[in-house]
Parts: sequence; structure tokens; C-alpha cells
Amino acid sequence: MIKRPFISLAKPRIEYEALDVTLPEPKEIPTPKKVTLLLNEPYEPVGNKNAVLLKKNDSVKTGEKLSLYDGSDAYVISSVTGTISSISSFLGEFGRSYTAIAIDVAEDEEMDEQFKALCVEPTMDIAKDYLSFIPGNPPASLFSNGSTSPSIDTIVIYGIDSDLLITVNQHALMSDEKAIRKGVGMLKQLTGIENIIMAAPEHLMQNAGVSGAQVSVVDAEYPATLPRMIMQNVLGKVVPAGKSCEDMGVCFVSAEAVASIGTAFDQGRIPPFKKFNLIKKDGNSVMISARIGTPVHEIFSACDVTVNEKDRIIFGGPMTGSSIYSEYHPIQPDTDAVMIQDGKNLALVSDYPCINCGECIRICPAKIPVNMLVRFLEAGQYEQAAEEYDLYSCVECGLCSFVCVSRMPILHYIKLAKYELGRISTAEATNA
Ligand code: SF4
Ligand code: SF4
Repeated sequence: MIKRPFISLAKPRIEYEALDVTLPEPKEIPTPKKVTLLLNEPYEPVGNKNAVLLKKNDSVKTGEKLSLYDGSDAYVISSVTGTISSISSFLGEFGRSYTAIAIDVAEDEEMDEQFKALCVEPTMDIAKDYLSFIPGNPPASLFSNGSTSPSIDTIVIYGIDSDLLITVNQHALMSDEKAIRKGVGMLKQLTGIENIIMAAPEHLMQNAGVSGAQVSVVDAEYPATLPRMIMQNVLGKVVPAGKSCEDMGVCFVSAEAVASIGTAFDQGRIPPFKKFNLIKKDGNSVMISARIGTPVHEIFSACDVTVNEKDRIIFGGPMTGSSIYSEYHPIQPDTDAVMIQDGKNLALVSDYPCINCGECIRICPAKIPVNMLVRFLEAGQYEQAAEEYDLYSCVECGLCSFVCVSRMPILHYIKLAKYELGRISTAEATNA
């Protein structure tokens, strides 16, 4: 909900969606004939020094761990039982390389028992080896504390979602109390971290209170639930530019991921279903439950959504989501929303220049001189943007793009710049 102030120079107040006390029952999408799982590793079978472990026509079971190369840490968990029909390259946002593993679904479902056998004696290694590809997508640092990542002493659980119109974590908090309690207990046991905080909105304090975590209230005004905002407003820690929350010892994980961890250890089964909001062309939102890997056209056809030429499909929320360009794009463990916008009503970006109106500066929660930053980003001068115009202070809320009268895609410029600078520093570290 957007509340505009009477005084035009004041910021508009944009509030997160609050879930009703009557919990919506998610609409279940039937298991499709084919799912596609995206492995976070490039497909390079030719010349790879490691043996390839998967091939076309291999059979897989629900819950089975699938790694493409011997010795690789990257894996997916199969959400279905069936046969691998293809393995291919997949290009994601900003040209990131993934491997797409397509599986033809069999009629009868068979559960893989490997995790069930191992989880009787839970260890961090088991969690790391099986629970990275679960609904809610926990960050890698959660299961590799102090080894490959900075040392973590605090875990913050989101009991509210980080973008507008999304209610996945509120739904988890209200409907999965038992699984979340188990998940919090497992996190304490596995990580040894006692400082676990559930950051939830005021109206969910009761649900948050029985989770076993400490409870903190987060404001329902956007962008109060983004990690750096929680760091500042809830934990009283300012993350310096160029540092991450993990560098400050804090790891963020969603309530849905904690519920998935709890369910996995409680039942010995890795959950294959992802919940997300389908935001339709009229702005109405429906809670959906679908197998990870379900192509988005299956969601549309089950929910009577017609896709016309020039309609826009977005994965994620209205402020920070990204367009996708194929109706075959699969639902992933971190897909919290699928939004479809009518081509006739699209707010298109433009190539108009900045007119220095100052709207972006007034609304930016990080107090960045966005009008100056955007000039350097447009020119591809990323290092100067980082050094002189606070690129790394950006919390990626998208408010500047939302208010920009020239309709500049500022957030996308910012994400691209951070991605490119990240690639350069990784390449320099590898070659050093
Ligand atoms: S996305 Fe824009 S408004 Fe938000 S913190 Fe970054 S520069 Fe500021
Ligand atoms: S809102 Fe857009 S046009 Fe206005 S100063 Fe910022 S970048 Fe320039």
C-alpha cells in the first residue's frame, strides 16, 4: 500500500503487504511432465578435468542429490522421480552461467533414502551436502561458518518478505510453526550459534514468539526488511560500504528456509515444493505451491493467466524483481514471486537523460547522491562510481528507479556494476 504525503517534498510511505488472520490455502500446481533444475555451475563437459557424473537417460528419485562433476560442491536436489532428458547451458541474469538439468517425470514417485539414513545423526557436513537447494534457498555461509566464509555469530531470520506484494515468509511463520521451531533448534545444534533472532512485523509477534528464536519487531515500511536496513535499525550495526552483513558476523536466512530445514530433519525428506506469490495483471496475488523446477507456463495455465505478446514476466517483487524472457523458465528454490504485467499498461524504462530533479536523492535510504552515481554507471565507469559515489552503500531497494521521472533503470545499472566489479576482483584474486 502506498500512502502519499500532503506535503509534496516528504517521502511517500510504502508498506509491505500484511497477511490476513485467515491464512490463504496455497493453490497446488499439479506435477508437470517435465521439470528443469538449474545447477549453479557452468556446463563445460568437454575438457573438464573432473569426471562427468550425470548423463541423458539416467534415472533419478525425488530428493536425490545431483552433482554434475566429481569433486564439485555444486548440486541440486531432484524435486521429482524420472529420467534426465537433457543437460545444457543456461544463461541467467547478467550472463551468469548455469547448467539446466531437464527431467521427464515418471508416473510413480520413488523417494531417495540417502538423506533419511544420514540425518539420524545430524552434522554440519550433512546440512551442507543436502540442504542448500531447499525451498527458501539458505545462504552458503549458513552451513560453512568460519571455513570458507567469515565467522558468523548471529543468525537473523526474516519473518517478513523483502519486497512488496510478497507474503511467503509471513505465510511460513503462520502455517509452519512446528517446522520453524524444529529448524531453529537444528540451527542452534549445528552451528553452535545461540544468538538467533526472528525479525517479524508487529502483527506476527505471537507466531514469532513460539519459534525458539529471540524476537525483534521490524517496521512494515519499505525497505525496512532489507538486510542492511535490519542491521542498522534492529541490530544497531552500520555495514560499511564494501563490506557485507556476513563480514560483520551476521547471516540472514528466510523463515521458509528455516521451516524447510526443520521439515527435512523431522521427516527425513527434503521438501520438493516451493511456495510463492503469483501476482496477476490486475494486481491480485495468489499463494502458489509448485514443485521446484516447474516451468512458469504451467503456473499460468493452472491459474487461467493468459500471456500476450509484450506482456512482461518478472521473477521477484515489483521493486527488485527481474524480467525473464521465456515461459519455460523454471521455479527455483529462491523464487518468492512471479509477476505478470499487462503489455498495455507497462511502465517502460526510457533512454531520457537525468534531469537532476533530485527525487532519487530524497528517497534513497542510504543517502547516496544517486543523480551523480547514475552518470558514472551509464558511462560504464564502475570503479569511479564505487570510489566517489557510494555504489557499495546501496541496499538495492529500487526506490530510486521507482521515483525516477526520466524512468532510468537505476537499480539495474547498480546491480550490473556490482556484478562486473565482483567479476573483476574474482579474476584478479584467481590470477594473483
Ligand atoms: S536502490 Fe537506489 S534508492 Fe535504493 S539504496 Fe540503492 S541507490 Fe538508494
Ligand atoms: S530521479 Fe531520475 S531524473 Fe531525477 S535526479 Fe534522480 S536519476 Fe535524475
